[in-house]
Amino acid sequence: MVVLKYAREGNVWWIKGDFHKWKIGSTHTIYVEYEGAPHEAVRPPWDGGFTWSHDSLGNLWASVSCQGLGASVWWPCKDAQWDEPDSGMNLSIRATGNAMVVSNGRWQQRSISAPKGDMLWHVANPINNYDATFYLGNYAHWHDTLIGEKGLLDLDFYPLAYHEGQARKHFAMVKDMIHCFEYWMGPYPFYEDGYKLVEAPYLGMEHQSAVAYGNNYLMGYKGRDRSGTGIGMNFDFIIVHESGHEWFGNNITSKDIADMWIHEGLTSYSESLYAEWLLGKEKGMEYNRGGWANIRNDKNIIGEYGVNDEGSGDMYNKGAAIIHMIRVMLNDDEKFRKMLRGMGKEFYHQTVTTTQVEEYINNTTGLNLKPFFNQYLRTKMVPQLEYYVKDDSFHYRFTNILPDFTMPIKVNGGRKDYIFTTTSDWQSAPWMGKKDPEISKDFLITKSEH
Ligand SMILES: [Zn+2]
Repeated sequence: MVVLKYAREGNVWWIKGDFHKWKIGSTHTIYVEYEGAPHEAVRPPWDGGFTWSHDSLGNLWASVSCQGLGASVWWPCKDAQWDEPDSGMNLSIRATGNAMVVSNGRWQQRSISAPKGDMLWHVANPINNYDATFYLGNYAHWHDTLIGEKGLLDLDFYPLAYHEGQARKHFAMVKDMIHCFEYWMGPYPFYEDGYKLVEAPYLGMEHQSAVAYGNNYLMGYKGRDRSGTGIGMNFDFIIVHESGHEWFGNNITSKDIADMWIHEGLTSYSESLYAEWLLGKEKGMEYNRGGWANIRNDKNIIGEYGVNDEGSGDMYNKGAAIIHMIRVMLNDDEKFRKMLRGMGKEFYHQTVTTTQVEEYINNTTGLNLKPFFNQYLRTKMVPQLEYYVKDDSFHYRFTNILPDFTMPIKVNGGRKDYIFTTTSDWQSAPWMGKKDPEISKDFLITKSEH
């Protein structure tokens, strides 16, 4: 064993050694002993760190959340999203008293590698470092299973002990939700680690295989519907959204947080898919469109690369709108479903860039969406459709677009729908429909009738 020298530069620790002599593909071990006073979260889960809380009976209830802030706030790690431990992770945690500790992966009953008194949890799969966590509290626990696409999936639930009755009813939706997600997005990506839902002292977080739940057993988002349509009151937003991240965020992780729309846009879309599963396609689409009212167009969805810039909060609803529009343009739900499922396979347990996702979608749909992605991800401009009907012709064009942007717009003329592939040039087409054409609501555009 060699003792290595190290030096500190801000939050970065440089370890010095003969690493250049290590052969690519070889395996080495570095032991790091590390201690300190944990940083307390200011406004979890958004401004993260440790949450030291108490349940209403006064029992200690603690957890950690650190998305954005970075996992280096509580353990020494390569604090970057583009790399993940390829053979998983062990988390060994000791609690005093009767508190139960829940973490990612599976509890190791007979552990020889953890110090006596520690609870050891083992994650078998690659995991992005902000997803590693622990929950400590006075929990109830029950186990369930479902027969999924990859066989038997273990489901474990950990509500606070005095919420067990309520939780058994409220968490019952999980099975059906996972069937829905598997149908649309492919097998749950972490069968080896199981699925857990754990009551947390903060709203929620997509902690891989141990989803944090803090929505107080309410429907919607803290008891209200973020889509403004009422449809969101048919399910618990936090369970659906944070579980959706297992597919987009945890299975497929963006290398750079500038590309975080891959997590949030697709996961927000998964909410619409669940609404559709419950209430039918039109309601699912209405839920999605309802969320567009939250779009601010304040800045580009894609942030600046390499400088820890996550881009606009529009990554949620505008990101979901992008997926919605692709589905509408494709006009073939089976192909669309294959595209979503294929993405989970193509990028299984990988970190990716927007460019890779774009290329994948272009290839599987056969649509040339390059200008479309550029417009909606890399500008904040919303295309404006200008149109009028004159002399039995429909005249139309886009303004506020990139030079090569084009999109097929569906227009209802009363008896039938027309599709006009619209560009920046004025075009016209024969029009037999009614005087006041109805422009499809399924495109995120503004409209101006001349
Ligand atoms: Zn999210």
